[in-house]
Amino acid sequence: MIDLRSDTITKPTDQMRKVIYEAEVGDSAYFEDRSVQELEEYCADFFQKESAIFMPSGTMSNQIALRCHTGTGDEVILENTYHINYYESAQTIDLAKVALNACLTSDGVLTPAHVQMLIDSKYRSPVYSIPKLVCVENTISGHGGRAYPIESLQELYHYTKQQGMALHQDGARLLNASVASGVAPHTYAAACDTLSFCFSKGLGAPIGSILIGDQAVINDAKKFRKWYGGTMHQAGFMAAAALYAMQHHVDRLEEDHENAKLLAHLLMDAPGVQIDLDRVETNMVFLDISGSGMSAFEFVEISKKAGVHLFAFSSTIVRVTTHLDVNEEDIRKAAEIMYDLFRRIERNEMNVVYG
Ligand SMILES: *Cc1c(COP(=O)(O)O)cnc(C)c1O
Repeated sequence: MIDLRSDTITKPTDQMRKVIYEAEVGDSAYFEDRSVQELEEYCADFFQKESAIFMPSGTMSNQIALRCHTGTGDEVILENTYHINYYESAQTIDLAKVALNACLTSDGVLTPAHVQMLIDSKYRSPVYSIPKLVCVENTISGHGGRAYPIESLQELYHYTKQQGMALHQDGARLLNASVASGVAPHTYAAACDTLSFCFSKGLGAPIGSILIGDQAVINDAKKFRKWYGGTMHQAGFMAAAALYAMQHHVDRLEEDHENAKLLAHLLMDAPGVQIDLDRVETNMVFLDISGSGMSAFEFVEISKKAGVHLFAFSSTIVRVTTHLDVNEEDIRKAAEIMYDLFRRIERNEMNVVYG
């Protein structure tokens, strides 16, 4: 099975397992885990912000960032496809107890004009919900994994400051953005108040995320991590794996990006499939298969039976994600299998083969 559902499915390499085995650990509830401290210091330094805190998941980093920047009943402005809106709306209502105000965009890039439109879309008064925070996502996973244009981010950050709002960057795949765009990670980090980053996506670590910001916000985050049950005692095993990934798995993200482009080219003229090649910037390919007459959910089923595991992003879009555990040969094989399926769908042969 060639598994292209997500870059979260990777398993630790032998080298990483060795690092996990040998990690120096302590009780991180007492802030005595050397490996956790090392990772947090490394990341604060790497992204050039004051402080950083290791978290069990990207969701917890985001949820705690929302909690730190807002109070009950406040409003958070963002784009419709962002993870925080698309997958975390229930958590957000339950934990941060804020209202999400999202808009649709053509490319996932939230501009000051979008934010202003969302502010103006409601009657504003201190007795109603007050917009306190803007969120962006980088890479923008709901729009094919594109890197957030740095000028747009800087402009938005300037605008949110003028408005007295904070900006949180859900940078789960920030290093994919950085490798693809050539913009330094700390330049992206400088254009927001808080940044969350995942070790368990393209970097290939088993667990973990980090929330980065100034000392005051990270001190608050320490409290909320405790409240949310996110304090992990001998977390150093996982922090050591994450640090290893930061030091050894960043440059190779380029390989994932090349594999995504290769797959997009191989499937470009598959019958019933549309791919916007300009949007294949990092490790994802979005295939709009509406022309095939089959839903993305159905295609994912038949493709799985044929040996390629994919993800249905919506009823019409199949998402392919490249990662550490697939090489060029796997990609060529997966593309061949998928191409063949699309051809058979076009010829109405699928019921014969898989009926
Ligand atoms: C994966 C992801 C998250 C959540 O990370 P988990 O570790 O799965 O909780 C948040 N935001 C984005 C953009 C992601 O891709």
